Amino acid sequence: DERRVLQFQITLYGDDERLLMARDITRLHRLEQMRRDFVANVSHELRTPLTVLAGYLETYIDNADQLPSRMARGLQQMQSQTLRMQNLVNDLLLLSRLEIDQRTDDSVPVDVGDMLEAIRNDAESLSGGHHHLSVDIDDVGALMGNEKELHSAISNLTVNAVRYAGEGCHITLRWRQYGDNACIEVEDDGEGIDPVHIPRLTERFYRVDKGRSTSTGGTGLGLAIVKHVLLRHDAHLEIDSHPGQGACFRCVFPPERVTPAQSIPRIQEA
Ligand code: ADP
Repeated sequence: DERRVLQFQITLYGDDERLLMARDITRLHRLEQMRRDFVANVSHELRTPLTVLAGYLETYIDNADQLPSRMARGLQQMQSQTLRMQNLVNDLLLLSRLEIDQRTDDSVPVDVGDMLEAIRNDAESLSGGHHHLSVDIDDVGALMGNEKELHSAISNLTVNAVRYAGEGCHITLRWRQYGDNACIEVEDDGEGIDPVHIPRLTERFYRVDKGRSTSTGGTGLGLAIVKHVLLRHDAHLEIDSHPGQGACFRCVFPPERVTPAQSIPRIQEA
Protein backbone atom coordinates (compact mmCIF):
# COMPACT_ATOMS: atom_id res chain seq x y z
CA ASP A 1 0.00 0.00 0.00
CA GLU A 2 2.94 2.31 -0.64
CA ARG A 3 2.29 5.58 -2.49
CA ARG A 4 3.19 5.49 -6.18
CA VAL A 5 4.64 8.45 -8.07
CA LEU A 6 3.46 8.81 -11.67
CA GLN A 7 4.68 11.16 -14.35
CA PHE A 8 2.30 12.13 -17.19
CA GLN A 9 3.29 13.50 -20.57
CA ILE A 10 0.85 14.76 -23.21
CA THR A 11 2.11 15.09 -26.78
CA LEU A 12 0.04 16.95 -29.40
CA TYR A 13 -0.15 15.56 -32.94
CA GLY A 14 -1.68 17.88 -35.58
CA ASP A 15 -4.91 19.62 -34.57
CA ASP A 16 -6.89 16.99 -32.74
CA GLU A 17 -4.72 14.04 -31.76
CA ARG A 18 -3.15 13.66 -28.34
CA LEU A 19 -0.87 10.99 -26.95
CA LEU A 20 -0.95 10.53 -23.17
CA MET A 21 1.96 8.65 -21.58
CA ALA A 22 2.15 7.67 -17.93
CA ARG A 23 5.40 6.54 -16.33
CA ASP A 24 5.76 4.99 -12.90
CA ILE A 25 8.76 6.82 -11.36
CA THR A 26 8.27 5.60 -7.77
CA ARG A 27 11.68 3.89 -7.64
CA LEU A 28 13.48 6.86 -9.16
CA HIS A 29 11.73 9.16 -6.71
CA ARG A 30 12.76 7.00 -3.75
CA LEU A 31 16.40 6.86 -4.88
CA GLU A 32 16.44 10.64 -5.30
CA GLN A 33 15.02 11.00 -1.77
CA MET A 34 17.72 8.68 -0.39
CA ARG A 35 20.45 10.66 -2.17
CA ARG A 36 19.10 13.91 -0.73
CA ASP A 37 18.85 12.53 2.83
CA PHE A 38 22.34 11.02 2.60
CA VAL A 39 23.92 14.31 1.49
CA ALA A 40 22.02 16.27 4.14
CA ASN A 41 23.04 13.82 6.91
CA VAL A 42 26.71 13.66 5.93
CA SER A 43 26.93 17.45 5.66
CA HIS A 44 25.27 17.85 9.03
CA GLU A 45 27.62 15.33 10.68
CA LEU A 46 30.69 17.08 9.20
CA ARG A 47 29.75 20.44 10.65
CA THR A 48 30.79 19.86 14.26
CA PRO A 49 34.25 18.32 13.59
CA LEU A 50 35.00 21.14 11.15
CA THR A 51 34.03 23.77 13.71
CA VAL A 52 36.34 22.15 16.29
CA LEU A 53 39.19 21.98 13.76
CA ALA A 54 38.70 25.62 12.73
CA GLY A 55 38.65 26.72 16.40
CA TYR A 56 41.95 25.01 17.30
CA LEU A 57 43.63 26.22 14.10
CA GLU A 58 42.65 29.80 14.89
CA THR A 59 44.16 29.55 18.37
CA TYR A 60 47.42 28.06 17.05
CA ILE A 61 47.67 30.64 14.27
CA ASP A 62 47.18 33.45 16.80
CA ASN A 63 50.32 32.17 18.55
CA ALA A 64 52.20 31.26 15.37
CA ASP A 65 55.06 33.74 16.07
CA GLN A 66 56.47 31.14 18.49
CA LEU A 67 56.53 28.46 15.76
CA PRO A 68 59.03 27.77 12.93
CA SER A 69 57.85 29.55 9.74
CA ARG A 70 57.34 26.28 7.82
CA MET A 71 54.92 25.12 10.49
CA ALA A 72 53.10 28.46 10.55
CA ARG A 73 52.64 28.26 6.75
CA GLY A 74 51.29 24.73 7.13
CA LEU A 75 48.76 25.89 9.69
CA GLN A 76 47.59 28.65 7.37
CA GLN A 77 47.11 26.12 4.56
CA MET A 78 45.09 23.94 6.92
CA GLN A 79 42.97 26.92 7.90
CA SER A 80 42.14 27.89 4.32
CA GLN A 81 41.28 24.29 3.38
CA THR A 82 39.10 23.95 6.49
CA LEU A 83 37.26 27.12 5.49
CA ARG A 84 36.75 25.67 2.02
CA MET A 85 35.24 22.51 3.50
CA GLN A 86 33.01 24.58 5.78
CA ASN A 87 31.72 26.58 2.78
CA LEU A 88 31.07 23.36 0.88
CA VAL A 89 29.21 21.74 3.77
CA ASN A 90 27.11 24.89 4.29
CA ASP A 91 26.23 25.07 0.58
CA LEU A 92 25.34 21.36 0.50
CA LEU A 93 23.06 21.79 3.51
CA LEU A 94 21.43 24.87 2.00
CA LEU A 95 20.87 23.05 -1.28
CA SER A 96 19.25 20.02 0.39
CA ARG A 97 16.96 22.31 2.37
CA LEU A 98 15.95 24.13 -0.82
CA GLU A 99 15.35 20.86 -2.68
CA ILE A 100 13.08 19.36 -0.03
CA ASP A 101 10.44 22.06 -0.40
CA GLN A 102 9.76 23.31 -3.91
CA ARG A 103 7.83 26.39 -2.79
CA THR A 104 8.56 29.12 -0.30
CA ASP A 105 5.57 30.01 1.85
CA ASP A 106 7.17 32.77 3.92
CA SER A 107 7.04 35.50 1.29
CA VAL A 108 7.28 39.16 2.28
CA PRO A 109 7.62 42.26 0.06
CA VAL A 110 11.34 42.65 -0.65
CA ASP A 111 12.77 46.05 -1.59
CA VAL A 112 14.97 44.89 -4.45
CA GLY A 113 16.75 48.26 -4.69
CA ASP A 114 17.97 48.03 -1.07
CA MET A 115 18.93 44.39 -1.54
CA LEU A 116 20.97 45.07 -4.70
CA GLU A 117 22.76 48.01 -3.02
CA ALA A 118 23.73 45.77 -0.07
CA ILE A 119 24.99 43.05 -2.44
CA ARG A 120 26.96 45.62 -4.45
CA ASN A 121 28.64 46.92 -1.27
CA ASP A 122 29.71 43.41 -0.25
CA ALA A 123 30.97 42.71 -3.79
CA GLU A 124 32.98 45.98 -3.74
CA SER A 125 35.03 44.74 -0.82
CA LEU A 126 35.56 41.35 -2.46
CA SER A 127 36.62 43.05 -5.70
CA GLY A 128 39.05 45.36 -3.87
CA GLY A 129 38.32 48.12 -6.40
CA HIS A 130 39.29 45.98 -9.42
CA HIS A 131 35.78 46.08 -10.97
CA HIS A 132 33.22 48.80 -11.76
CA LEU A 133 30.05 47.77 -9.95
CA SER A 134 26.74 49.59 -10.44
CA VAL A 135 23.05 49.19 -9.62
CA ASP A 136 20.31 50.15 -12.07
CA ILE A 137 16.71 50.16 -10.80
CA ASP A 138 13.52 50.76 -12.82
CA ASP A 139 10.28 51.68 -11.14
CA VAL A 140 9.12 48.07 -10.93
CA GLY A 141 7.88 47.66 -7.35
CA ALA A 142 8.62 45.17 -4.61
CA LEU A 143 9.25 41.48 -5.08
CA MET A 144 7.25 39.00 -3.00
CA GLY A 145 9.68 36.42 -1.72
CA ASN A 146 12.01 35.09 0.92
CA GLU A 147 14.57 37.89 1.40
CA LYS A 148 17.36 35.68 2.74
CA GLU A 149 17.10 33.20 -0.13
CA LEU A 150 16.85 35.90 -2.80
CA HIS A 151 19.81 37.73 -1.28
CA SER A 152 21.93 34.57 -1.34
CA ALA A 153 20.98 33.78 -4.99
CA ILE A 154 21.75 37.27 -6.34
CA SER A 155 24.86 37.46 -4.20
CA ASN A 156 26.10 34.17 -5.76
CA LEU A 157 25.63 35.63 -9.26
CA THR A 158 27.45 38.84 -8.31
CA VAL A 159 30.35 37.06 -6.62
CA ASN A 160 30.68 34.87 -9.75
CA ALA A 161 30.88 37.99 -11.92
CA VAL A 162 33.67 39.35 -9.69
CA ARG A 163 35.48 35.99 -9.79
CA TYR A 164 35.19 35.13 -13.48
CA ALA A 165 34.66 38.33 -15.50
CA GLY A 166 38.23 39.55 -15.06
CA GLU A 167 39.72 42.71 -13.59
CA GLY A 168 38.61 46.10 -14.94
CA CYS A 169 35.19 44.78 -16.01
CA HIS A 170 31.84 46.46 -15.52
CA ILE A 171 29.27 44.58 -13.48
CA THR A 172 25.67 45.83 -13.41
CA LEU A 173 22.88 44.68 -11.11
CA ARG A 174 19.44 45.53 -12.54
CA TRP A 175 15.81 45.31 -11.45
CA ARG A 176 13.58 45.94 -14.42
CA GLN A 177 10.45 45.10 -16.33
CA TYR A 178 10.95 42.22 -18.80
CA GLY A 179 7.93 41.91 -21.11
CA ASP A 180 5.01 41.02 -18.80
CA ASN A 181 7.47 39.76 -16.19
CA ALA A 182 10.07 41.42 -13.99
CA CYS A 183 13.70 40.44 -13.77
CA ILE A 184 16.83 40.85 -11.67
CA GLU A 185 19.87 40.79 -13.93
CA VAL A 186 23.55 40.47 -13.14
CA GLU A 187 25.50 41.43 -16.24
CA ASP A 188 29.23 41.71 -16.85
CA ASP A 189 31.33 42.60 -19.88
CA GLY A 190 34.06 40.08 -19.06
CA GLU A 191 35.39 36.85 -20.50
CA GLY A 192 31.99 35.23 -21.09
CA ILE A 193 31.14 31.54 -21.45
CA ASP A 194 31.02 29.28 -24.50
CA PRO A 195 27.29 28.55 -25.18
CA VAL A 196 27.96 24.77 -25.16
CA HIS A 197 28.40 24.96 -21.37
CA ILE A 198 25.29 27.03 -20.65
CA PRO A 199 22.68 24.21 -20.41
CA ARG A 200 24.83 22.42 -17.78
CA LEU A 201 25.92 25.41 -15.63
CA THR A 202 23.24 24.91 -12.96
CA GLU A 203 24.24 21.26 -12.35
CA ARG A 204 25.98 20.61 -9.05
CA PHE A 205 29.78 20.90 -9.38
CA TYR A 206 29.69 21.72 -13.11
CA ARG A 207 32.51 24.12 -13.95
CA VAL A 208 33.79 25.49 -17.24
CA ASP A 209 37.41 25.55 -16.14
CA LYS A 210 37.81 23.12 -13.27
CA GLY A 211 41.34 24.07 -12.24
CA ARG A 212 40.68 27.78 -12.19
CA SER A 213 37.31 27.59 -10.46
CA THR A 214 38.74 25.60 -7.55
CA SER A 215 41.37 28.27 -6.96
CA THR A 216 38.73 31.06 -6.93
CA GLY A 217 37.23 29.63 -3.75
CA GLY A 218 33.82 28.64 -5.13
CA THR A 219 32.08 25.42 -4.10
CA GLY A 220 30.66 24.53 -7.54
CA LEU A 221 27.16 24.74 -6.06
CA GLY A 222 26.44 28.47 -6.56
CA LEU A 223 24.31 28.25 -9.70
CA ALA A 224 22.52 25.10 -8.46
CA ILE A 225 21.48 27.12 -5.40
CA VAL A 226 20.33 30.01 -7.62
CA LYS A 227 18.22 27.62 -9.73
CA HIS A 228 16.48 26.13 -6.67
CA VAL A 229 15.83 29.50 -5.01
CA LEU A 230 14.21 30.69 -8.24
CA LEU A 231 12.10 27.51 -8.57
CA ARG A 232 10.74 28.22 -5.09
CA HIS A 233 9.73 31.71 -6.32
CA ASP A 234 7.95 30.48 -9.51
CA ALA A 235 10.86 32.04 -11.37
CA HIS A 236 13.59 30.80 -13.72
CA LEU A 237 17.13 31.63 -14.78
CA GLU A 238 18.11 32.71 -18.32
CA ILE A 239 21.80 32.87 -19.24
CA ASP A 240 23.09 34.83 -22.25
CA SER A 241 26.79 34.66 -22.93
CA HIS A 242 29.45 34.40 -25.61
CA PRO A 243 33.20 34.14 -25.22
CA GLY A 244 34.75 37.60 -25.03
CA GLN A 245 31.33 39.29 -24.85
CA GLY A 246 30.50 39.03 -21.16
CA ALA A 247 27.65 37.21 -19.47
CA CYS A 248 24.12 38.07 -18.41
CA PHE A 249 22.35 36.01 -15.74
CA ARG A 250 18.64 36.94 -15.70
CA CYS A 251 16.25 35.85 -12.94
CA VAL A 252 12.75 36.11 -14.41
CA PHE A 253 9.79 36.52 -12.00
CA PRO A 254 6.11 36.26 -12.99
CA PRO A 255 3.92 39.41 -12.54
CA GLU A 256 2.09 37.80 -9.56
CA ARG A 257 5.35 38.06 -7.59
CA VAL A 258 5.57 41.85 -7.96
CA THR A 259 3.67 44.43 -5.89
CA PRO A 260 3.68 48.25 -6.14
CA ALA A 261 6.72 49.76 -4.34
CA GLN A 262 4.54 51.92 -2.04
CA SER A 263 3.10 48.84 -0.36
CA ILE A 264 6.39 47.97 1.38
CA PRO A 265 5.78 48.53 5.10
CA ARG A 266 8.45 50.87 6.49
CA ILE A 267 9.46 50.92 10.16
CA GLN A 268 8.65 54.37 11.54
CA GLU A 269 11.51 56.09 13.32
CA ALA A 270 10.65 57.36 16.79
P1 ADP B 1 31.69 27.94 -8.79
O1 ADP B 1 31.72 29.41 -9.04
O2 ADP B 1 31.85 27.64 -7.36
O3 ADP B 1 32.63 27.17 -9.65
P2 ADP B 1 28.96 28.11 -9.81
O4 ADP B 1 27.87 27.08 -9.88
O5 ADP B 1 28.65 29.36 -9.10
O6 ADP B 1 30.22 27.37 -9.17
O7 ADP B 1 29.41 28.47 -11.30
C1 ADP B 1 29.64 27.42 -12.25
C2 ADP B 1 30.64 27.87 -13.32
O8 ADP B 1 30.04 28.85 -14.17
C3 ADP B 1 31.88 28.53 -12.79
O9 ADP B 1 32.84 27.59 -12.40
C4 ADP B 1 32.35 29.34 -14.00
O10 ADP B 1 33.10 28.51 -14.87
C5 ADP B 1 31.05 29.70 -14.72
N1 ADP B 1 30.61 31.10 -14.49
C6 ADP B 1 29.68 31.53 -13.58
N2 ADP B 1 29.50 32.86 -13.65
C7 ADP B 1 30.31 33.32 -14.64
C8 ADP B 1 30.57 34.63 -15.21
N3 ADP B 1 29.95 35.73 -14.76
N4 ADP B 1 31.48 34.69 -16.22
C9 ADP B 1 32.12 33.58 -16.68
N5 ADP B 1 31.91 32.32 -16.18
C10 ADP B 1 31.02 32.19 -15.18
